[in-house]
Amino acid sequence: MSLPLVDGFGRTHRSLRLSVTDRCNFRCPYCMPAEHVVFQPRSEILSYEEFQKLVQVGVRLGIREVRITGGEPLVRRDLPRLVERLSDIPQIEDLSLTTNGFYLRELAVALRKAGLHRINVSLDTLRRDRFKELCGVDALDRVLRGIEAARNAGFFPIKVNAVLLRGINEDEAEELVDWARGLNLSFRFIELMPIGGGPVRGREHLVSGAEVKARIERRHRLIPDERCDPSSPARTFRFADGSGEVGFINPITEPFCAHCDRLRITADGKIRNCLFDQGELDLRGPLRAGASEAELEAVWRRAVGNKGVGGCVELERESDSGSGRRMWQIGG
Ligand code: SAM
Ligand code: SF4
Repeated sequence: MSLPLVDGFGRTHRSLRLSVTDRCNFRCPYCMPAEHVVFQPRSEILSYEEFQKLVQVGVRLGIREVRITGGEPLVRRDLPRLVERLSDIPQIEDLSLTTNGFYLRELAVALRKAGLHRINVSLDTLRRDRFKELCGVDALDRVLRGIEAARNAGFFPIKVNAVLLRGINEDEAEELVDWARGLNLSFRFIELMPIGGGPVRGREHLVSGAEVKARIERRHRLIPDERCDPSSPARTFRFADGSGEVGFINPITEPFCAHCDRLRITADGKIRNCLFDQGELDLRGPLRAGASEAELEAVWRRAVGNKGVGGCVELERESDSGSGRRMWQIGG
């Protein structure tokens, strides 16, 4: 293996988010605009073979965890074929997928057979009308059946992620957690980040993780989970009665940049060192021009060398400029 990817702040990078498409069949208001969305031309999106080559470079540099995301990764045709290619790379210890769940019912078994280790499903409400209003699609039932299919296919643990929004779905914290406990699903609340391209983006919609935790503690006693991995953005808690756990990802009120070990590759082959750092570097051009492994490694190293103290930390000082690529174009 080459020297690991250590940045100027001593952080070693082991984790990669791979955005395989900027397309999505939902329009969550904190992520995408409702209309007039301009997608990248297909010719600019990496093929599965190209993703595999880039990940192979990454694993030589110490990447050990790969999360497939988007846009909605399951709208990309034959995603299990990419999973197969990645699960053939023996150095990858954790291969996971983040999805809105719409196509899980059809694809859960194929994803499992292809070698996927873990699935995260995003779900912000358990109310059918609200779901439709939020995501623009009447698909709550489909998503719930998708989660069931993933459980039946043998995925465990399954994490369900929700973004609570002030005045929109903030009243569902307890309901969501109780539902997840009933099905033995792990639950994560993610604070709203000002990186979406849709109408819900500002601080007026932010519900802090501390507030959500306090609401849950009105019903349940929570015990900090000692096994919590410091490089994981989630602070997790076990329920005192022994059944289930819940986590809080608080990039805004408790930035976790000091332990960040993540890099991102966008669907069009740019490498980014942070969700919030718009200074991305191109991998697709050199890859398609036949660059050597050493040349591609050099781009990865430059991306890591450019990494600042951390985007979430800097967000405390600056507010979102509204420019640059947004969540669905980067990969959450
Ligand atoms: N389409 C897939 C999904 O929804 O799970 C994968 C991509 S999505 C961008 C990944 C995650 O980012 C989802 O859990 C979503 O809720 C979260 N997300 C999107 N925009 C966000 C924002 N502005 N703030 C916080 N989380 C956001
Ligand atoms: Fe699509 Fe996921 Fe963004 Fe929702 S959060 S619009 S499902 S990419």
